[in-house]
Amino acid sequence: MNTSDTKTLREYDRAHVWHPFTQMKEWEESDPVVIVRGEGTWIVDSEGNRYLDGVAAIWTNVHGHCKREINEAIKAQVDTLEHSTLLGLANDKAVLLARRLVEIAPPGLCKVFYSDNGSTAVEISVKMAFQYWQHQGKPEKTKFISFKNAYHGDTIGAVSVGGIDLYHAVFRPLLFPTIQAPAPYCYRCEFGERDRANCGMRCLKELERLMEIHAHEVAGLVIEPLVQGAGGMIVQPDGFVRRVRELCDRYDILMIADEVAVGFGRTGAMFACEREGITPDIMALSKGITAGYLPLAATMTTQKIYDAFIGEYREMKTFFHGHTFTGNPIACAAALASLDLFENERLLDSLTNKIGYLAERLQALNEVRHVGEVRQCGMIAGIELVKDAETREPFPWEERVGIQVCLEARNRGIFLRPLGNIIVVFPPLSISLDELAFLMDGIEASIRAITELRT
Ligand code: PMP
Repeated sequence: MNTSDTKTLREYDRAHVWHPFTQMKEWEESDPVVIVRGEGTWIVDSEGNRYLDGVAAIWTNVHGHCKREINEAIKAQVDTLEHSTLLGLANDKAVLLARRLVEIAPPGLCKVFYSDNGSTAVEISVKMAFQYWQHQGKPEKTKFISFKNAYHGDTIGAVSVGGIDLYHAVFRPLLFPTIQAPAPYCYRCEFGERDRANCGMRCLKELERLMEIHAHEVAGLVIEPLVQGAGGMIVQPDGFVRRVRELCDRYDILMIADEVAVGFGRTGAMFACEREGITPDIMALSKGITAGYLPLAATMTTQKIYDAFIGEYREMKTFFHGHTFTGNPIACAAALASLDLFENERLLDSLTNKIGYLAERLQALNEVRHVGEVRQCGMIAGIELVKDAETREPFPWEERVGIQVCLEARNRGIFLRPLGNIIVVFPPLSISLDELAFLMDGIEASIRAITELRT
């Protein structure tokens, strides 16, 4: 038997692999595309079909697939040290990466706690904030403020601070309750505002009201700065994050910025918080940290938070948390190579043209009848498809228009993964202008092909 034969791979996949966020009944009835190779912006399946990777291997890829410099760094590290532990030991790559992260992070974030994925980076952030107040003589500060429509990962703590019923409601009995603030979802503003530019940010006023009531019992606030990702690529109004920072300061609440999706250049700056000129108390990083190569995460924090954990062993101030693969040197070597590429290829500078071009193409989509809103922040875009652009009435969920558009795009050589009826644009940052044109041509044609059949 040839185990790389497409038929065999599909059969084994359907028989044994339980896919994430997937209704497996439907999957089992489908012919899965099996990816076997990556080349720059492209992924290639077992039959040799090429697809432009429009979602950067689920929002992680930065410099393209199989980037020579990162491949070489990983190969060299494999031949040197594959893994050690940060329990009782340090390793050179984890140390050097921590130093690099501190150099590029918003000023004041000077400590790095490693883990393996975005959910654990958030989980650690939440536990750190909770324990911080225990050591500060304010043990009543145990709660968290989170936003409706937020997504912070799938472990229990991360789900607790999430706000997407579709994913989270079934687990409610298992979760710790949070204080939920309104989402800054301007297109579907819960206060009925329709004008994004002059909205007055009533969601912030409501957040302040909640803080006034609850500050004495709140340890931290968790936010996806600039863009709520899985919630639908919801772009916050300018100044929103800065004002959340001010409110956290005023009410003595730790601000946790979840930059798992938006970190590492995605918004046009290295970190989203930088664009609002703020430093959070705690920042969670993953995804782009290794340019999409290997599982790695970092929770960064300030001297102030760190100092609260310093004491004699018997004082019980230790942060008792850690994962087996914490600070894995292969992953850290990949991350270091990625940061070198940011510098050597002047990646952030190169984004200006691409972001401008993307903006033009998105603007043009406003002419398409079933496009309700286009949202963009740097190299992230969300295209919200609606039944009626005038009334903003959504397409009925069960019509699955988003999925159909993405399947149509696949026939045109583009891989996309929607969020409901929101088409997500999130390619590797290294995408060329020609490839970006191909991607946007394909998206526009696919949206037209699927939605223009409808009334
Ligand atoms: N936070 C945000 C903002 C995310 O977008 C994600 C993943 N999409 C996570 C946390 C969780 O990361 P992971 O899937 O690596 O656990």
